[in-house]
Amino acid sequence: MSKIIAIANQKGGVGKTTTSVNLSAGLAKLGKRVLLIDIDPQGNTTSGVGINKADVEHCIYDILINEVHPKEVIVPTRIEGLDVIPATIQLAGAEIELVPVVTRELRLKKNIHLVKKDYDYILIDCPPSLGILTINSLTAADSVIIPIQCEYYALEGLSQLLNTVRLVQKHLNTELQIEGVLLTMLDARTNLGIQVIEEVKKYFQDKVYGTIIPRNVRLSEAPSHGQTIMTYDPRSKGAEVYMELAKEVVIGE
Ligand code: ADP
Ligand code: MG
Repeated sequence: MSKIIAIANQKGGVGKTTTSVNLSAGLAKLGKRVLLIDIDPQGNTTSGVGINKADVEHCIYDILINEVHPKEVIVPTRIEGLDVIPATIQLAGAEIELVPVVTRELRLKKNIHLVKKDYDYILIDCPPSLGILTINSLTAADSVIIPIQCEYYALEGLSQLLNTVRLVQKHLNTELQIEGVLLTMLDARTNLGIQVIEEVKKYFQDKVYGTIIPRNVRLSEAPSHGQTIMTYDPRSKGAEVYMELAKEVVIGE
């Protein structure tokens, strides 16, 4: 059985891309076949796994707009078991180009189904908005992981996200579930982080992962080397916690 998980939060900088890339690499290291889909026009996931955007022939845009078969878009990475559907800045036009399309919310779902059986996990790195690209992702997904940064106003904006999830459940994808809530970028030296953890746990209860991602400089360095943490520094705290998260995701099945 394969599972499609969207990584979503309309706030930028909460760790969506870092989680998408490193959780995917962790799952691949556990022997799972993983497809990582970049659906953010910024393409940080794409460059984060070492793909040069200038060399990308087809990207997620071609799947959504031109209905190119995903097999023609998927590229392997240096990590065994991990494939990627890249995004380039071309995707920025898709929000507008999809407006007149009748089944615009279903484009990703329809096309991803063509390759679903080839993977154990398909992760989708969403853009920082609740627009049509995130809606496509939530419609295609079985579940959603919500990363929350351990900072002031951590819960701010979450009601909008949860409202969007409810609307998608009502109108587009009745099966959509919340896979889990992931606390990210914890600074263990401050009390603030502890307060945020308590607040988030009060709100989401057992949906919160036991694994909490601390601030780790190696995690922030890895993308500029086009590497996931698993190859950039497999002994770092960052690699350790994302492996732990991968195991938690697998056990949750
Ligand atoms: P998003 O995709 O939600 O916008 P990112 O994953 O790109 O967020 O993270 C935002 C920034 O924070 C990036 O520069 C990233 O390298 C850095 N970052 C993310 N997680 C961590 C972490 N646990 N420790 C240190 N830096 C992190
Ligand atoms: Mg991102």
